[in-house]
Amino acid sequence: MYEVEYQRAKTVADAAALLAKTGGKPLAGGQSLIAAMKLRLAQPGTLVDLSGIADLQGIRREGDALVIGAMTRHADIASSTEVKRAIPALAALAEGIGDRQVRNMGTLGGALANNDPAADWPAAVLALNATVVTGKRRLAAGDFFKGMYETALAADEIITAVSFPSPRKAAYAKFPNPASRFALVGVFVAQLADGSVRVAVTGAAPAVFRATGIEAALAKRFTADAAKAVKVDASGLNADLHATAAYRAHLVSVMASRAVAACG
Ligand SMILES: Cc1cc2nc3c(=O)[nH]c(=O)nc-3n(C[C@H](O)[C@H](O)[C@H](O)COP(=O)(O)OP(=O)(O)OC[C@H]3O[C@@H](n4cnc5c(N)ncnc54)[C@H](O)[C@@H]3O)c2cc1C
Repeated sequence: MYEVEYQRAKTVADAAALLAKTGGKPLAGGQSLIAAMKLRLAQPGTLVDLSGIADLQGIRREGDALVIGAMTRHADIASSTEVKRAIPALAALAEGIGDRQVRNMGTLGGALANNDPAADWPAAVLALNATVVTGKRRLAAGDFFKGMYETALAADEIITAVSFPSPRKAAYAKFPNPASRFALVGVFVAQLADGSVRVAVTGAAPAVFRATGIEAALAKRFTADAAKAVKVDASGLNADLHATAAYRAHLVSVMASRAVAACG
């Protein structure tokens, strides 16, 4: 590891000011950032640790929405009774992330800012039409994810929380890579409070996307068979040593049908 300046911020404003002044990067659970630094894929001169900022912690209800602080660890979301009561699909998703160490260190905000193409949280945020709250603004899910490892965040902008509106029904199904548990394909299906259906897919393409064909089928008939019957176009999907694009396309329909079945 090369030499790096470490700063610990006490407030979101402090952290933003430090980032603007130093050109550094926020440090959350370090599960992606530290590994990227060891490989020299990221070389920030300064790390601004967010773990001492009380405002970024916690899980609370705000009207019909469940608001989760950006520094909340995956393990705390997985075990939260508030999450299990409000949107159990989020607790189940968090329980399926990586291994125990990753869940005990990794955070919701870090996972969203990182926007790994195979990460689980982007699928939940996009399908539930959640709002990503930053120190500067509120971003609709559809405006937040821009591409592979790319988001709408400015360099000195910090995610403070995510507001998830309570759906009628929601579930997530993933086909995990057996080594890392990252999604080979993961599909989050949600029937929102207004009855509309949103289906978001991770792992299959360079960035999370909505499966509009499956959404249309489920809007007519919300059944596992209706999801499974949709043929997903493989063009533009990822192909690597783990799976061909055609196999991933097939998995999208299969995981969508499993998610619908899990909605009950
Ligand atoms: C072995 C392994 C297996 C994994 N398996 C999975 C899996 O199955 N599913 C899955 O979804 N993920 C998986 N992950 C990733 C894991 O979920 C990480 O927690 C996540 O990618 C990054 O979160 P973090 O809190 O560690 O962020 P960090 O690594 O600290 O930061 C990641 C990036 O986000 C930025 N950042 C962090 N917090 C904020 C914020 N609040 N505002 C703005 N920018 C911020 C940082 O500057 C950095 O660029 C795995 C990781 C490992 C190492």
